[in-house]
Amino acid sequence: SPLSHTSKILIVGGGTWGCSTALHLARRGYTSITVLDAYAVPSPISAGNDLNKILELASFAGEDEDERYVSHRLLEAATAGWLHDPVFQPYFHETGCIVAATSNKARAYMNSPDGPSEADGWIPLRTKEEFRATMPKGVLTGDFPGWQGWWKKSGSGAGWVHARKSMESAAREAARLGVAFVTGDQVGRVTRLIYECSDVKGALTADSKAHYADRTILCAGANAAMLFDMEDQLRPTAWTLAHLKMTPDEAALYRDLPVLFNVERGFFMEPDAEHHELKMCDEHPGYCNWTGTTGTGTGDKSTPFAKHQIPLESEARCRAFLRETMPHLADRPFSFARICWCADTPDRAFLISLHPEYPSLVLGVGGSGHGFAHIPSIGGFIADAMEEKLDERLKHSFRWRPETAVRRDWGDLQGRFGPEGADRVMDFQDIKEDEWTSIGSSAKERA
Ligand code: FAD
Repeated sequence: SPLSHTSKILIVGGGTWGCSTALHLARRGYTSITVLDAYAVPSPISAGNDLNKILELASFAGEDEDERYVSHRLLEAATAGWLHDPVFQPYFHETGCIVAATSNKARAYMNSPDGPSEADGWIPLRTKEEFRATMPKGVLTGDFPGWQGWWKKSGSGAGWVHARKSMESAAREAARLGVAFVTGDQVGRVTRLIYECSDVKGALTADSKAHYADRTILCAGANAAMLFDMEDQLRPTAWTLAHLKMTPDEAALYRDLPVLFNVERGFFMEPDAEHHELKMCDEHPGYCNWTGTTGTGTGDKSTPFAKHQIPLESEARCRAFLRETMPHLADRPFSFARICWCADTPDRAFLISLHPEYPSLVLGVGGSGHGFAHIPSIGGFIADAMEEKLDERLKHSFRWRPETAVRRDWGDLQGRFGPEGADRVMDFQDIKEDEWTSIGSSAKERA
């Protein structure tokens, strides 16, 4: 049916991209928008339910002209949102960032012609003294063995965003504009899409209710492939994160720090203002959970699951990273940890498209590890796809492209690094039950 502002729009998944889509559609004047999610915003399984995410307002220089164009368009839209949209602007902390690498391979990647340069305002870091001098005395006490890096100072378009608050803010504004959020394990959990007349006509929830709609937008993140056959275009992959509780004095010392990111060790950001928790991630190409074959039967299937613990080997990597940067924190117990799922397309470009066979189904998936930075604007592109007015080059980049996933190499690093031993896609099936952290239950409740 032709679209109008009174068309019924159903968004499956109210995480990062679902909230953004709801907001953009409401701002465009759609009056009948419903978001279904198994959890209230912020969903504990949303990749965006996190203290913070790295934001760098710079485009990836792609291999060809079209890639550069797409990257530039995405960046332009995200920048406008982070700098000027009152829904998002308060959550961007432009504290600067440091990017670093250790091995020759990762250094070569970092120092490629498209990487940081003095011409672009980056300051080279070569010695432990230079690294230490990027933060107040007493923060970086490590020796930075073998590290080389670049520093972009505060106020130059790089830093971090408060992820959870940005997502809540988008949902709040969408609700204010009339979007209905139907959330909960029964009323909001989608069990399957509704297929009628060779089309998708809505979704069924766990309470057996049929939600019919003129357009159904799938924004279920890493779980999208459990609801619709993505023909191997999504690889659900998890990363690991942990928090360290800081004292009020430490929190004061650690305020306004630049993000520190070693592409094969991990990254951390300043502690949050309310709870004084410092979040860190160990870096690696990710964990899959190989449990069977995909819908198309062509490959293995990585199935996401929720867990508010991380493998002990991940904890060990976090501590090794701390030992190189802030050894005084290396043995502090974690106050919180979890695995966090995202979904990679084979080329890590987003998948935002109408489905070629189901005209009323819109896909908004494939965040590919860089989907959070676009929360202010991604919903506008998903709305454009629904309204069939995506610019041709964006449409091509974001297209439904199963031909790119035929005989997909599930172990592909997809441009990521990790320390020795974790420089490969790992499998949660290899982690035994007693090889996980056992952080207290209060962490779970807070998640
Ligand atoms: P999500 O935000 O995960 O949303 C999916 C939603 O679907 C959830 O709310 C879930 O509850 C819901 N859902 C699932 N199944 C169902 C169902 N059956 N019925 C109803 N609802 C359902 N990106 C950056 O830009 N910068 C970063 O620094 C960065 N760091 C990251 C660090 C980690 C550890 C991880 C894991 C990801 C990171 N990312 C980062 C990537 C970014 O977080 C994701 O690309 C983005 O959040 C994906 O958004 P999404 O809406 O697709 O998925």
